[in-house]
Amino acid sequence: MNDNCIFCKILKGEIPSAKIYEDEYTYAFLDISGDFYGHTLVIPKQHFENVLDCETTYLNAVINAVQTISNHYVNNCGFSGVNVFNNSGASAEQSVMHLHFHIVPRTSNDGYHVSPTNEGVKVDLSEVKAKLEVK
Ligand code: AMP
Ligand code: ZN
Repeated sequence: MNDNCIFCKILKGEIPSAKIYEDEYTYAFLDISGDFYGHTLVIPKQHFENVLDCETTYLNAVINAVQTISNHYVNNCGFSGVNVFNNSGASAEQSVMHLHFHIVPRTSNDGYHVSPTNEGVKVDLSEVKAKLEVK
């Protein structure tokens, strides 16, 4: 646990949260922003900054919890899809430095636009592949 981390404080019960799901390794609760109905955050019960440093056991548990909650939203709560995303690093717009995956439950007529809409990025894919391929 990290004393200065608001999500660690949520895990310790020092800050209230609207719990959605919990297991041995993970905890999920509603995002406070109220931007999307049902916007959910899934976090590991141990403090890691993001996907770049998270231990595999916790990272696997978090993504399994994301699947469990997403299936619940689609099978039992009237949604037909989910957006799942994660920001890792300040440059990637991460604002709370405790690993979390976002789930936004969706219906086809909700009017939301969650995916990025950047346009005009002209790239030579073979050049990008030469730089980015994992070898
Ligand atoms: P990110 O920008 O990916 O780091 O996302 C951080 C998210 O945490 C934002 O969507 C915030 O609305 C959310 N958040 C911050 N503080 C709280 C809190 N106390 N309870 C629930 N969600 C929070
Ligand atoms: Zn933390």
